[in-house]
Amino acid sequence: MQRLLDACLFAARAHSGQCRKGAAREPYVNHVIDVAARLAASPLADEDTVVAGLLHDTVEDTPTTEAELAARFGPRVAGMVMEVTDDKSLDRPIRKALQVAHIGSRSIPARRIKIADQTSNLAALAESPPADWDRARAQEYLDWAVRVVAAARGVDPGLEAAFDAQASATAAVVAGMDAGPGQG
Ligand code: ZN
Repeated sequence: MQRLLDACLFAARAHSGQCRKGAAREPYVNHVIDVAARLAASPLADEDTVVAGLLHDTVEDTPTTEAELAARFGPRVAGMVMEVTDDKSLDRPIRKALQVAHIGSRSIPARRIKIADQTSNLAALAESPPADWDRARAQEYLDWAVRVVAAARGVDPGLEAAFDAQASATAAVVAGMDAGPGQG
């Protein structure tokens, strides 16, 4: 419990000042807590995986380093985080394509984190879509999330079923979104 709360506090501090893209502008840390809670609900995900879920965006989106995570939470957790960390020197479309291409060869815990991450992102898209996204943009994001999880799946029936249910719910919300400028 103490280790989980330590990771929670570490993530909250690392992401302080960052907000989600959604219109509600939720604190970013809400997302990583959501991902960790989804992982904790899986009987297959162990404690390191839940801890890595809390920390999964720290290296990608904050000055946190792999060495810092390894010293504080152990090399296994740091390794899981690095497996789901994009190379920020690459352009966004390339990073997104590489996520689909690489996730199938990642470790089982990393694939579980990625599935929970995409479930959380699709829940956020349904509940609080970014104000400047039209239906096409949301659909594109949904389609990409489905492709990432298709490449990651085969590791956790519960997490995969939860993703599928969320993807259906989000698809219904996206279908009802504004078509965009001049089309609504
Ligand atoms: Zn995330």
